[in-house]
Amino acid sequence: MAVTRTFSIIKPDATRRNLTGAVTKMLEDGGLRVVASKRIQMRKEQAEGFYGVHKERPFFNDLVAFMTSGPVVVQVLEGEDAVARNREIMGATNPADAAEGTIRKTFAESIEANSAHGSDSDENAKIEIDFFFTADEIVG
Ligand code: GDP
Repeated sequence: MAVTRTFSIIKPDATRRNLTGAVTKMLEDGGLRVVASKRIQMRKEQAEGFYGVHKERPFFNDLVAFMTSGPVVVQVLEGEDAVARNREIMGATNPADAAEGTIRKTFAESIEANSAHGSDSDENAKIEIDFFFTADEIVG
């Protein structure tokens, strides 16, 4: 398996509860390396752009409001098969369906406030990394 990169967000419900370190530790313990990280306040247009694929979904406006409700930590993660590994560590979208020991099972408040984002393909990982980071901010 190749070493690849994925994009992660520690969402506002997690930063609000001071869980940045706890979530990052689960990512690191799961075999991923943080090669870029910054804490930002997402603007409405940024969140709308980032979640553009969900524009037609009924929860789109709520999701944008949630993602701009407080600071987030955007990260680039590197490791063996990073996209799949990160999604394993995060668990299912709905914490009620997430496996024991995953970030979402451990920390999520709801299907929306589910503590973490992770890219769903190598192609989207590249798009999402480029959305938030310049090449010289990534120090692997
Ligand atoms: P992910 O790849 O596991 O993050 O899931 P999706 O790409 O399907 O959804 C993106 C994000 O939208 C999720 O992580 C949730 O924060 C939110 N979301 C997904 N489904 C729902 C829903 O049914 N209701 C609400 N309010 N938010 C949702």
